[in-house]
Amino acid sequence: MKKLTDKYFVTGHPIGHSLSPVIHGAFFEHFNLKESYAVKDIAPEDFENEMELLRKSDKKGFNITIPHKISAFNASDVLEDYAKNVGAVNTVKIEGGKLYGYNTDGIGFIKALEKCGISVEGKTVCILGAGGAVNSIAVKAHMTGAKQIIILARRIEQAEALCKKHGFGIFDSLENFSKYDYDILVNATPVGMHPNEGKSPVGDFKNCEFVYDLIYNPFKTEFLKMAENKGIKFDNGLWMLVFQAAAAFEIWTSLYPAEEALDEAYIRLVKALEGR
Ligand code: NAP
Repeated sequence: MKKLTDKYFVTGHPIGHSLSPVIHGAFFEHFNLKESYAVKDIAPEDFENEMELLRKSDKKGFNITIPHKISAFNASDVLEDYAKNVGAVNTVKIEGGKLYGYNTDGIGFIKALEKCGISVEGKTVCILGAGGAVNSIAVKAHMTGAKQIIILARRIEQAEALCKKHGFGIFDSLENFSKYDYDILVNATPVGMHPNEGKSPVGDFKNCEFVYDLIYNPFKTEFLKMAENKGIKFDNGLWMLVFQAAAAFEIWTSLYPAEEALDEAYIRLVKALEGR
């Protein structure tokens, strides 16, 4: 039997808790590829040097998480247009001594909604929070035909900076949330995430088509419980995690995981989270 080789990895700092190896493990097995996916902690002060070493290495690609997405953007020799728009990179392909930077967070979000039968086209999407994830999903939702994007943050200047940078969207303080109407409501703050369960970024919300929480631990946040009580369709962020990984996997291998591989990755993630 061929030995498994670590040609791919995820990096961040700290990185111990990453679920990415669970997902990519399912994909590599599905295609019977004798590759494996490791976890590599890179301290911010070592990032640039590590990128130089990677250019000359036999590694094929890696994912990037907090706090390196902007550093990976800066380190990329070639950038896809969407990553260029977002200003952050979560996936790098290494080829011919060059780092090719991509961002798959936005497509992960759009596909997670599609999985629930929801399209952003022609819709008003209200996003709570204005951090890194919002940067990615707002740009993709705009590119995918959302009619209006509303970004509400506890620091209005953060939401304003995002809207001004991208040239679209309405920004306001989270405190003014009740003023707005929307079709799709998205929580992109960490409020309600384990171990701070039982909290929600907003006290109540209006009726709408769909409610999405980027959080997946717990599976059903207080925010999602409110949607459930109102009879609104909802989902957590677990499929977004699977779909952003599937897009990265395709960038590296030119293979897109079949539905059964996506389902297998999802089941493994649920088991991994339950075991925590
Ligand atoms: P981030 O860059 O740290 O941004 C977090 C945002 O939430 C900021 O706007 C922050 O505002 C705001 N926030 C934090 N605490 C708040 C509070 N108590 N009340 C109101 N707003 C608050 O984080 P991120 O990378 O965008 O991630 C956001 C969430 O999405 C996290 O829960 C993360 O785990 C999740 N996520 C999920 C996926 C997925 O695939 N499912 C992918 C990416 C991220 P301040 O700047 O004022 O603190």
